[in-house]
Amino acid sequence: MTKLLKSWVESANSPDTPFPLNNLPYGVFSVDEDEPRCGVAIGDMILDVAYLEEEGVIALDDEPALDLPFWNEVMELGPKKWAELRARLTDLLKEGGDHVLSSDADMRAQALVPMADTTLHLPFIVSEYTDFYAGKNHAMNVGTMFRGPENALPPNWLHIPIGYNGRASSVVVSGTDVRRPWGQLKGPNDDAPRFEPCKRFDIELEMGAIVGTPSEGPITVQEADDAIFGYVLLNDWSARDIQAWEYQPLGPFQAKATATTISPWIVTKAALEPFRTSTPDREKPLLPYLQEPGPMLYDIDLEVSLAPEGKSETTITRTNYSVMYYSAAQQLAHHTTSGCPMNAGDLLGSGTISGPEKHERGALLELSWGGKEPIALETGEERSFIEDGDTLTLKGAAKGDGYQIGFGDCVGTLLPAHKDPYKR
Ligand code: CA
Repeated sequence: MTKLLKSWVESANSPDTPFPLNNLPYGVFSVDEDEPRCGVAIGDMILDVAYLEEEGVIALDDEPALDLPFWNEVMELGPKKWAELRARLTDLLKEGGDHVLSSDADMRAQALVPMADTTLHLPFIVSEYTDFYAGKNHAMNVGTMFRGPENALPPNWLHIPIGYNGRASSVVVSGTDVRRPWGQLKGPNDDAPRFEPCKRFDIELEMGAIVGTPSEGPITVQEADDAIFGYVLLNDWSARDIQAWEYQPLGPFQAKATATTISPWIVTKAALEPFRTSTPDREKPLLPYLQEPGPMLYDIDLEVSLAPEGKSETTITRTNYSVMYYSAAQQLAHHTTSGCPMNAGDLLGSGTISGPEKHERGALLELSWGGKEPIALETGEERSFIEDGDTLTLKGAAKGDGYQIGFGDCVGTLLPAHKDPYKR
């Protein structure tokens, strides 16, 4: 297992920091009223790479690529440039590396900004958003609740990474409040549908993969893996009562369109390289175009906490990304089979990540078994679904030898529904 790479930025050497030199995740930050620009997390600081590019310390392309409020330009430069940038950043920040930054106090003061003084923004322009359904435990649990145990797993599930086209416009960065939606609801015993605030608002614990290299026709699983720029944590907020009524036959629509929250830092594939792991054994052989040439999942510990308004948080689930049946590379390869073009900034949600055990489930729908078994919080309260004022936090870390690769928390607070959404 790879060891901690030591940096002259002291806070990056702590075993507890999510952002050691091994990580170097990409975000967009601003200070006070300054324009948002590209930055790289290192310990408790942000490296202002837009400034370093301006000073000629980093040279990626003929045109500046880092003085922008998104990383899409860098994505479009391709894997060779991604590797060059990572190598340059490592050299600038490592102990005994290039001294241009470490030896120049004025430049250092300009280039390293305390993260606590910054505002973080969406790290890239989400060009498109597709959400998958690749966790078998989740699919079994939800299928059992929605259709009964005999029909839990759809007949195509072991052959196709099932997905639907989501809404890029609804993707928000961690820290953005989410408003409880209204929608059309009808329970199985109701005579007619009604238009009301959602009563079963939920989370989905997922990983998001970000496409870096565009494609125009079908690509292989290996090409898909090569095209992925990095990963974020993703909370696919879900209105279960709206979903249950609307989803057949074309899948979720308004139930998933309120918001999807992502963590603020793009963790690159290079940082996750030591944590690659294989998908579980196939229960049915996959068609050749979906077969993985090597390990394409990652060993990333995940957890979710819930804090009622003004109260302390309780960890409500703990699981690992490696339980997924399909990798993001398989999903991306499948996505292109039709000839569907993929763009830099295309976001692919993994599907809810639920482990086999009850305390490993990645949605309240599963944790409370559709509300029949509310979960206990450390505050003494119970929850079946999210209540107004609750704050949900997703956390993730790949654990190395004396260091960890973190993503930054993926946080959102639920605001109450508007009294009347059509009141003007
Ligand atoms: Ca989802």
